[in-house]
Amino acid sequence: MELYEIPVDVLGGAAGDYIKNKSTITSFFDYVPYGVEFTKRAKHLEERTYPREQLAAYFTRYNEELGAGARTIENIRAFREEDALVVVGGQQAGMLTGPLYTIHKIISLLQLAKEQEQQLGKRVVPVFWIAGEDHDMNEINHIYVTSKGKLKKSVLPQMYEKKASASQVELSQDMTLAWVESIFKTFRETKYTKELLELVKVCLHHSRTYTDFFGRLIMEIFKEEGLILMDSGAPELRRIEIPFFQTLIQKEMQIRTALKQTQQRIVESGYEPLITTKPEVCHLFLDIEGERWLLERRDDLFVCKDGEYAFTEVELLELLEKEPQRFSNNVVTRPLMQEYVLPTLAFVGGPGEIAYWAELQGVFHEVGWMMPPVVPRFMLSYLEGHIASDMIDLGLDVAELFSKKLGEAREAWLAAQVQEPVEETFAQVHEEIMRSHEVARELVERINPSLRSYAYKNQRKIEEQLQLLERMLRKNIEQKHDVSLNKFRRIELSLQPAGGLQERTWNVLYYLNEYGLDWIHHITQLSFTWDDTHKVIKL
Ligand code: ADP
Repeated sequence: MELYEIPVDVLGGAAGDYIKNKSTITSFFDYVPYGVEFTKRAKHLEERTYPREQLAAYFTRYNEELGAGARTIENIRAFREEDALVVVGGQQAGMLTGPLYTIHKIISLLQLAKEQEQQLGKRVVPVFWIAGEDHDMNEINHIYVTSKGKLKKSVLPQMYEKKASASQVELSQDMTLAWVESIFKTFRETKYTKELLELVKVCLHHSRTYTDFFGRLIMEIFKEEGLILMDSGAPELRRIEIPFFQTLIQKEMQIRTALKQTQQRIVESGYEPLITTKPEVCHLFLDIEGERWLLERRDDLFVCKDGEYAFTEVELLELLEKEPQRFSNNVVTRPLMQEYVLPTLAFVGGPGEIAYWAELQGVFHEVGWMMPPVVPRFMLSYLEGHIASDMIDLGLDVAELFSKKLGEAREAWLAAQVQEPVEETFAQVHEEIMRSHEVARELVERINPSLRSYAYKNQRKIEEQLQLLERMLRKNIEQKHDVSLNKFRRIELSLQPAGGLQERTWNVLYYLNEYGLDWIHHITQLSFTWDDTHKVIKL
């Protein structure tokens, strides 16, 4: 494997400015994106205590259930120690682990934890938080595959009526198995296929919910790396979280105000706020008969489900004591809860998270904490051998791939192959014919105005014929360059699927099938630089 770290400019907005270390956005964070003084952060964390024993008990149960390896169990043991720290990140439970960026976030967590453990001389363990309460099933119920050389979305055909969370939604075993098999049919049969499919099937067989399935697969893929998983939707966590839910309920007004103030500053700095909840929303969900509803403030009451349920503060606090599993966090309070339960040396986030975390500084300060260092996850692309050869054949450079759209490069290449000025000539002929036709139309209209619409129709027909000729010629040219254009198509499909980054579309299974089950382990052994470059790994 060869690693290229390429300076690119693929991210816009707040996240793009953050990774470029621009002060307009870094002023919304309490630490810098790169080159964080982790010793200082570690010192700062010494002032607090954490529910280590209770969490470790949960970690042990959950991770063992998912099939944790010895290193994970060892890291959970280490987490019990008073000065152990965590590097944390999270994601929704995508089907078959979702797009590659989730894998890349975990790789980032692992590398940062390993580096800082060496630097600080303390135990630093990687924790990945599965956002199991999220209920946007449409976001997580599919993966992309290729069909007849084109990108295709393959959706697991299961219906959901309720706004239940991924941790609760049960997978239909038969349907999911058939779906998984249909995905594998789109892959090449390799020497790894059988074992990989078997592994996925075993994971599925032991999974009741979406989150279980995701967790088991992640555990298998990162078996040797010591990753600790937690499901933010786990009812057991809720009991541990009660004291901080109390704070969130009691301070809900101040939290709302703090959010509004930071968002105001965000707007003044020229960014668009991403958190768009209504002003009366309390940023906490309550479970009502299996559905999650946001709590809202109406005068002295907390209401939810469009006012159908109402509680005084005292009643809500009582409910929390009795049934904590009914409470959950939203985008605003989840980062706070993470800070409450975990000694967070750093939070590793993706572009979307970085952008909305920028809105949370006031909220963190309101509850008396600094924001943890927010470290951007690595952005990676895999350059397969046959794709690299195609690129050499076409004279395309790796860096070029990230500075322009491949579609444009293809057009430019094609234009360069055809010496004749096709586009210009047709444009010129079109203009000339249209000019002459106007003269004819005017003549027709002068003699018989009722023939006006006929004359226009005639114009359109001539235009269509000309376009047809141009299309025929283009098709002919393309056929002549069929082999090269097919290479462009393959490069595009591999490195810029749907016109975007590979990691946003493709799934890890394709690569495991091509390069073996221990492929990810080799990727985690590479040493990436913490900076804004895009990491391209030539396989
Ligand atoms: P082929 O290369 O055999 O013509 P396709 O036209 O289907 O295959 O795909 C073009 C290229 O896109 C493949 O060679 C591969 O590099 C990449 N690709 C195809 N399917 C996937 C996938 N599911 N995940 C990641 N990359 C893929």
